Amino acid sequence: MLFLLLAAMQADTVRYDIRFPNAVHHEAQVTVTFPARSGDTLAVWMSRSSPGRYALHEFAKNVYSVSAEDLSGEALTVVQPDPYHWLVVSEGGPVSFHYTLFGDRADGTYAGIDLSHAHLNMPATFAFAPAFAGTPIAIRFDIPRGSQWRVASQLLPTGDSTRFTAPDLQYFMDSPTELSNFTLRTWTVPKPGGGTYTYRLALHHLGTDAEADAYVERMKKVVAEQIGLFGEPAPYDAGTYTFIADYLPWASGDGMEHRNSTVISSSSSLARNPMGLLSTMSHEFFHSWNMERIRSAQIEPFDFLQADPSDALWFGEGFTNYFDQLFIRRAGLSADSTYLDRLGGQVNAVVHAPARRYRSALGASLEAPFVDAATSIDPTNFGNTFLSYYTWGAGIATGLDLTIRGRYPGKTLDGFMRVMWQRFGRNEQPFVVKQPYTVDDIQRTLGSYLGDPAFANDFFRRYVRGSDVPDYAVLLAQAGVLLRKARPNAAWLGDVRLDADSSGALVRSPAIIGTPLYDAGVERGDRIISIGGAPVPSDAAWEAIAAAHKPGDVVPIIFESRGTTRTAQVAFAADPQLEAVTFESVGQQPTAAEMKFRMSWLGSRAGK
Ligand SMILES: [Zn+2]
Repeated sequence: MLFLLLAAMQADTVRYDIRFPNAVHHEAQVTVTFPARSGDTLAVWMSRSSPGRYALHEFAKNVYSVSAEDLSGEALTVVQPDPYHWLVVSEGGPVSFHYTLFGDRADGTYAGIDLSHAHLNMPATFAFAPAFAGTPIAIRFDIPRGSQWRVASQLLPTGDSTRFTAPDLQYFMDSPTELSNFTLRTWTVPKPGGGTYTYRLALHHLGTDAEADAYVERMKKVVAEQIGLFGEPAPYDAGTYTFIADYLPWASGDGMEHRNSTVISSSSSLARNPMGLLSTMSHEFFHSWNMERIRSAQIEPFDFLQADPSDALWFGEGFTNYFDQLFIRRAGLSADSTYLDRLGGQVNAVVHAPARRYRSALGASLEAPFVDAATSIDPTNFGNTFLSYYTWGAGIATGLDLTIRGRYPGKTLDGFMRVMWQRFGRNEQPFVVKQPYTVDDIQRTLGSYLGDPAFANDFFRRYVRGSDVPDYAVLLAQAGVLLRKARPNAAWLGDVRLDADSSGALVRSPAIIGTPLYDAGVERGDRIISIGGAPVPSDAAWEAIAAAHKPGDVVPIIFESRGTTRTAQVAFAADPQLEAVTFESVGQQPTAAEMKFRMSWLGSRAGK
């Protein structure tokens, strides 16, 4: 009886097998066995996109030596109608589909295979048949002899440490897997209503165990702050959340959120950049609520055959970007000044972005397929027309949080996120998103949380659907924080990347609207010969020229542009760069009310 049942289940399972006989040259051998079905061809695809990413990545480009056979081992005809998929001609019986995969990029998006590990993002690694999107999946990882590799993944474990399952294709594709001799740390937190959730850190790095232990202690504090905000961990589908961290010189920097896990990769190390890596960890972990479960309707379910844009990335990514550092501050792991440095940088970027002339935060979100690790060889004008939804969204969150705290006693952006969680995210059943949201839903929920729909509508009209910025100086002053010009008297021509030598200063970055250089007609690729008669043979010379002038000075600038030597007048401006600093750091005593506001904003939530 049991055996019959098992056989019946296997017949209705897509089975994957992956081996690494040529890992040194970054290859894997993959076999996918699809169950019987009706019809005389089976369409098998490589994904074109990846959950957590918004652009096309075209994973078929690293697939070759494709073949297929039936159960008896008889070769089947495979035709390839386009670059992305194959048609296997068969009578409808089970099909085994084979290919070689090349992968040499260990990060959250691609596959990195070498003698140290197989770091697999599933859409980059595994072909699939849309006809079996709802069919359960079983996978076996072949551990190379002598490798000491183990498996870390949010895939569901079985009694065999090399075999895992997934309820369907969506979950399988969302389950990146690391095979290596990683350092493992686990800990638990109480589950509301009894029991515990388990956290695992699978850390593949070249550092020490002491560094791993110190990192885990910090992670626990950040995790506690985030649980403090929502009041509970997200209900991990199998009771476990896995941090897969690859901090290796041959890894690429990335952070990718998934339902019950994250991949955090970096070419740096815990010794060199502990707080930077913690910041990425904080960001991705917050996504287990805000993005994975509180989820935009435009990316749920995820479409593997197209780019997956969403007009709510200013919320999903931007609000996460606002909170990731806030948790580190609340956990007592950074100083007010460190936190305000970054906040000031974000506010500065939002206030001065020329992109706000062209788009709203919704429009910036919809640019993701063009900017999210999307490469093109033709230059763009994004320096002027695109403000990152991470930065812009963090700016909106800053304005909203400080406005709510000032106007609605007892209410905060934390409280609003908790309502979003209850209404849209908190799933009762595993593997499902409770209710994917729209931007209208966010606006309505804000209105009902505050009991003030008019405020929510006005805020969205100005700052989300429009492109105004809140009055950050007034909002920050409530917390005894001064927003001011960092270098108010410094003469400035624009923030520009230069390659300077004896022939002049080659402009490497695009001209930015609102800078004196832009107004003088200088563009990327031009070579600046002299400013006010002074040559520019080095970065130091460039700085000396600025230091020798004051805002308002007008001088001739001579530059070569597309084969012509041109002379224009350039007017030095005052450096507009803003910074956020505490009142006390500039000798101004904050009031008790301002300090109370600041403590409520930046103070710990853990256990409250
Ligand atoms: Zn993110």
